[in-house]
Amino acid sequence: MGRSSKDKRDIYYRLAKEEGWRARSAFKLLQLDEEFRLFKGVCRAVDLCAAPGSWSQVLSRKLKGDEGKGTEVKIVAVDLQAMAPLPAVTQIQGDITKVSTAQEIIRHFEGQPADLVVCDGAPDVTGLHDVDEYIQAQLLLAALNITTHVLKPGGTFVAKIFRGKDVTLLYSQLKIFFSGVTCAKPRSSRNSSIEAFVVCQGYTPPEGYVPNMSNPLLDHCYDVDFNQLEGPNRVIVPFLACGDLSAYDSDRTYPLQLDPNKAYQYLPPTQPPIQPPYQKACLLRKHNLLAKENLRSSSTPEPSACQEQ
Ligand code: SAM
Repeated sequence: MGRSSKDKRDIYYRLAKEEGWRARSAFKLLQLDEEFRLFKGVCRAVDLCAAPGSWSQVLSRKLKGDEGKGTEVKIVAVDLQAMAPLPAVTQIQGDITKVSTAQEIIRHFEGQPADLVVCDGAPDVTGLHDVDEYIQAQLLLAALNITTHVLKPGGTFVAKIFRGKDVTLLYSQLKIFFSGVTCAKPRSSRNSSIEAFVVCQGYTPPEGYVPNMSNPLLDHCYDVDFNQLEGPNRVIVPFLACGDLSAYDSDRTYPLQLDPNKAYQYLPPTQPPIQPPYQKACLLRKHNLLAKENLRSSSTPEPSACQEQ
């Protein structure tokens, strides 16, 4: 893919570079905030599955402390991958499904719980929908488990979901902990993707609930047909397409020259990945050491793609 074709195909990718966001996902959080006022009164937040860090950037730019009340902004960002530093963001490199990572996050909020927990976690998609959905659900449950340890009563939890057939179970589980659960689809999230976000407001754990590291949330039975459940056991959650209706549509292709008076200018990514898995291959290619170099197939990235990262 040439340098300009992704800019042309994906308007939010190009806008992210123009506005200095590390990834186009920044717009998803910004549009969710437009709809739900997520950041109002928030100064302590956790960003789970944060790399390359565009959600952390949004939090870092939008959260405001209050000197009068002695409240300072605190953002803890967690990911398997290393992330370039950001102002006011503490980084933890770890797996959110591991107890050791959860405990490290919890330590940061002891005595002063978080106002907001966000999770944009996604596994490396295999293309097998059931497997992808299952891993995604495990990430979400790990995120929810951490949330029950760090979120203040009344706080908000936002997480990416894949809207598969068992999503009703998920809504029922979330409804146990939050007074309001909405499924939201920002305009910057492609319609062609089953991705959506649960916005869970008003954290109210059940009376007597004690957050537990053994993660009882994961011990559910897969033989139950959740669509047979009735009443409060089968929770219907409202669906909301959010983001300004006049905003760009992420499924459309727009002309490259957004300003007709200016020539197209290629912008490099705001923050290239710091340890990309393809780094070694790029180095080998540069020194002509890649095996089968002369049999380069169309699926092999062009050298320019490596330079772009
Ligand atoms: N919100 C991020 C942003 O705006 O830059 C993008 C997140 S990206 C879609 C999904 C991230 O989930 C990847 O960086 C991946 O490393 C992370 N991830 C996947 N499984 C994880 C796990 N078990 N623990 C921590 N992070 C994980």
